[in-house]
Formats: sequence, C-alpha cells, structure tokens
Amino acid sequence: MSSPSPRIEIDLGKIADNARCLVERLAPLRIDVTGVTKAVLGLPSVAAAMLLGGVTRLGDSRVANLARLRSAGIQTPMMLIRSPTPDEADRAVTIASISLVSEPSVVAALSTASRQCGLVHDVVVMVELGDLREGVLAADLLPLARFAATLPGVRLVGLGTNLACRNGVEPGPNQMAELAVLAQLVRVELGLALPLISGGNSANLTWALDADRREPTPSPVTDLRIGEAILLGTDPVRGAPIDGLHTDAFTLVGSVIESLEKPSMPWGTRGFDSFGSVPTVGDRGQIVQTIVSLGRQDVELAGLTPSPGITVLGASSDHLVLETPARLAPGSELRFGLGYAGLLRAMTSPYVAVETTGLAQPRTDAGAPTRRRT
Ligand SMILES: *Cc1c(COP(=O)(O)O)cnc(C)c1O
Repeated sequence: MSSPSPRIEIDLGKIADNARCLVERLAPLRIDVTGVTKAVLGLPSVAAAMLLGGVTRLGDSRVANLARLRSAGIQTPMMLIRSPTPDEADRAVTIASISLVSEPSVVAALSTASRQCGLVHDVVVMVELGDLREGVLAADLLPLARFAATLPGVRLVGLGTNLACRNGVEPGPNQMAELAVLAQLVRVELGLALPLISGGNSANLTWALDADRREPTPSPVTDLRIGEAILLGTDPVRGAPIDGLHTDAFTLVGSVIESLEKPSMPWGTRGFDSFGSVPTVGDRGQIVQTIVSLGRQDVELAGLTPSPGITVLGASSDHLVLETPARLAPGSELRFGLGYAGLLRAMTSPYVAVETTGLAQPRTDAGAPTRRRT
C-alpha cells in the first residue's frame, strides 16, 4: 500500500534520541525534563518516544491533547502548561496532575473541581519575568501563592516562568536567579517545600547548557518544559541547531500536480494576491514552475525547507509553487524539512496524514482532537 500524500513523516527514534540527549545533559544540573507535545497535538507515539528518552513527565497546553495521551493508555504524570479556564477545571483535574496557574479564580475552580472528585491537584504559580505573556508580577506573587496554599484540593508545589515566546526575551542567569529568590521567599513565608521550579522552555537551553555558566550546580531550577528542542533539535532564540540533536525527525512530503516551463514574470495588470499582498517578482526568463498539492492551510512558508536546488516561490491556500531544476512527473513526491511554525501548521492541517517510523509502534495514534461542533 502506498503512503498517503501529503503526509508528515515522523522518525520516532530521532525524537527518543533527542529527548535522551537533553535529559542526560540536564541531569547533572538536577533539571528534569517535561516533554511538551503541543506541536504534535499530543500524538501518543511521539509522547511515548519522549518517555523512552527519559523525560520525567509530559506537558501540553491543551486539555484535549492531554486527554488524547490518557486515552492512549499513557499513565505518566502530566502538566497542563497553559492555565485552564475555570470551565475546564473539571477536565483539568481528572486528566492532568499539575496545572500552571496565574489567576485566583482559576485556582479556586481547580480546588472545587478536585474536591468534588476526591483528588488533590498540584499547581505551579507562573511569574511574569519580562516577556509579557502569562504570569503574575513578582509583587503580586505572595498573595496568590498564599491563596493557593490555603485552599483545599490543590497543593502549591512550585513556581514557574515562561520567556521568549511572545517578545523573544532571552531567559538567562538573571531571570533564573530571580525565580529562585522568589521561590525562597514563598518557602520562608508560607513554610512550603516548593520542589518544582519550572524555569521555562527550549529557549532556556542556551542558559542551561552553557558550559561556562558560573552559577551553582545544581541549578536554581528543577524542571524545563521542552518541546521544540526535542522535536526539531533547534534553539528557538537563535533559530540554530543544538549540538548533538537530530534536526530532521519530521519531513513533510507532498506530490506534484503540475510542472511546466513558464515565464518567471507575471503579465497583465496586478493587484493583491489571495492574501492581500503584491509579491515582488524579478524577471529571470523561463523557469520550470512546479506545483505541489499543499497550501497555506497545511504549511507555513517560513518554516519550510525544500531539497537543495529547489526554491519556494509562493503559495496560495492550496497550491505550493516551487522552482525546480527540471520538470517533474505529476505524482512525484517532494520532501521538505520543517521549522516550528511549519510543523505546527502541518500537524494541525486535517489534510496532512501522519506516518511514524523508527520505533516499534507503541500504541495507536488514533484520536486526534475532535473538532468542536457549535
Ligand atoms: C509551548 C510552551 C512550552 C514549550 O516550548 P518549546 O519552545 O516548544 O520548548 C513550555 N512552556 C509553556 C508555558 C509553553 O506554552
């Protein structure tokens, strides 16, 4: 049976290798790895590969993705890395073991929900350290921590922060030291152990793996939530590969539908293209223009790397236009490397099939999050 096209091919062995490599490098610093699966929508086989590589727990920003992992039989502790809404508290406490939180009403909803289920739910209070996404300001930390510590049904187990995602603020020794100081303050004021200090995401690896770091070992943080570096082997802040990691665990494969010699210059009066811009085109004479049956519904051009010799010229919703050295027969397959944005878009497209290789298939990957009906 031939493979469906378009498809995303996932080499699970490379994902397990990447996870293992990071787990081993962070172990001397006493930093655990939470393997983050949101870019693959909580695909169970990818989670299983991360676990094989030794991650301590799994994390995802969406309850639906964690539910998918639970349905596949994965019993590892799971962290909900985006605060639930109060409405989601019931599902959050039954599916996740830990939630990252930054609002008292959410903590209260988790408390109510977990008491109703006879559970105790762990919470980690997120602190804003400058990237201006989630988290309370340092000045507002103690009241929220105290509130969480006094409510039944929830247990305040730590603090967390997240940098680099919204404004590209680089996590470094200053922020990690500040987080450690805040944790110490909460420990002293509230008499809690706070074992879980979750310092950030893949962007923290530059800091964590810096051989010249002059900070104490073990590090002030005990956990990093890592998605991109395990999946793609790259450092999001520098956009560069991380030494020793595979950067080709994911390949997007699409099929040619047209490949014709055409002028490189459009003709006629020009207005906006289908996405409201007017592309600049230089006249390079005749070229071979090849169309693959993928589009912006399935790929993000910025995150798409074709094979050497092939150039991406543009894309509409459903046509990916390339320049190739020679004409290609319709049905021929072309392969592309993916960056984070490309991976996210391709995994989220219902038109792109998913095929895994490289490890014995641990569990069914059935059950992609179902679309919400309204
Ligand atoms: C997405 C996310 C992560 C993982 O980020 P990567 O760059 O993929 O490692 C970690 N923490 C939070 C809160 C996130 O939203």
